[in-house]
Amino acid sequence: MSKVVKFGGSSLASAEQFKKVGDIIRAEADRKYVVPSAPGKRDSKDTKVTDMLYACYALAEAGKNFDKELKQIKARYEEIIKGLNLRADLLDKEFETVKAQFAAKAGKDYAASRGEYLNGIIMAEYLGYQFLDAAEVIFFDENGEFLSEETHKALKARMKEYENVVLPGFYGAKLDGTVKTFSRGGSDITGSILARAVHANIYENWTDVSGVLLADPRIVENPVGINTITYKELRELAYMGFSVLHEDALFPVRISGIPINIRNTNRPEDEGTMIVESTCKQSEYTITGVAGKKGFVSVNIEKDKMNSEVGFGRKVLQAFEENGISFEHMPSGIDTLSVFVHQQEFEGREQHVLSTLHRLAKPDSIEIDADLALIAVVGRGMKSNRGVAARVLAALAHNNINVRMIDQGSSELNIIIGVKNSDFETAIKAIYDIFVTTRL
Ligand code: ASP
Repeated sequence: MSKVVKFGGSSLASAEQFKKVGDIIRAEADRKYVVPSAPGKRDSKDTKVTDMLYACYALAEAGKNFDKELKQIKARYEEIIKGLNLRADLLDKEFETVKAQFAAKAGKDYAASRGEYLNGIIMAEYLGYQFLDAAEVIFFDENGEFLSEETHKALKARMKEYENVVLPGFYGAKLDGTVKTFSRGGSDITGSILARAVHANIYENWTDVSGVLLADPRIVENPVGINTITYKELRELAYMGFSVLHEDALFPVRISGIPINIRNTNRPEDEGTMIVESTCKQSEYTITGVAGKKGFVSVNIEKDKMNSEVGFGRKVLQAFEENGISFEHMPSGIDTLSVFVHQQEFEGREQHVLSTLHRLAKPDSIEIDADLALIAVVGRGMKSNRGVAARVLAALAHNNINVRMIDQGSSELNIIIGVKNSDFETAIKAIYDIFVTTRL
């Protein structure tokens, strides 16, 4: 049995947080593989070390003095080292190297990666684990694309040498040795890659919330948490704005069917959320989650006998393609077809799209409906429950919300609803209430 445990920045922002992390790791011998982020914010006004590094390096790159900024970064680490009673000079040499590399303009990615690199050294020392520099085992090609299979092979082979290891998150290196980072939040990806390489039983992702919530807490007061969610459901919700893990973190573990457990460092007794391939566990409520986004436009196209005109849909989509606009949804009726696009993307090209549509598809009329929001009601339980759409519609009607569009995904995993932007929050609350509060 083995577990990969990844800790986010807020879990490692101070010595006090490090101690909580130490207790969590020592509580289970299976927690052999540790992936740390860089120290995050200690309070809401604080700055993440990663952001401090970017700012400091910008000065170095402009040829300006960056001594003060680098000292402030060093002070963040020294506070942790002192609070953990580690050797005071643990990172002195490392900081000399960092300073020289900044002066030599080693690159923005190198600079940002030091956040996790240095934190990894502290973590390894604190736990008595071995330290493995991610630049030796996580690879990118010359264009900065992650080399998934090369990395997997190298990391898998390398991990045979280690019993317990700390592998810093967020970065790796190109084949010529230049350090390269993933996009922001990328330590989640490192954890997932490592879990796949050691074939961990579970990938624990420790953060500052007790798992994934069924709805956005900024809209719904105190929403319930989700016990178990499938990768597919999470993809649907993430697309609609749920931010749980880095988008690319699902793929490595998905390949090998390793579940992810989102846990709270500040409340380790909470079970958190399990993200799994599939499960026989029904979700507690008919829906697993509800999420949405504002800012869409619906372009409604009408043409008599549209249904019998072969190639009509293609011509419509071609008009959007020719104008470089991607579409989100395309519900259709017998003589009508609507295309949902992002308002911001569409606005500047509006008249071009309309004239292209007229040229290619020769519709009878085109109407534009702006300021719309899309809401996804997601749940594996919907397949086996009758009347889910009816309940959603009833809840919305009851709240005087006009539904502009409803579209059920072919997998019966989601229902997408279009409403006015101004109805968005009320609609989410109404859907939450009908499925969770009143448990209909
Ligand atoms: N430290 C990096 C960031 O702030 C990566 C991470 O925390 O996952 O984005």
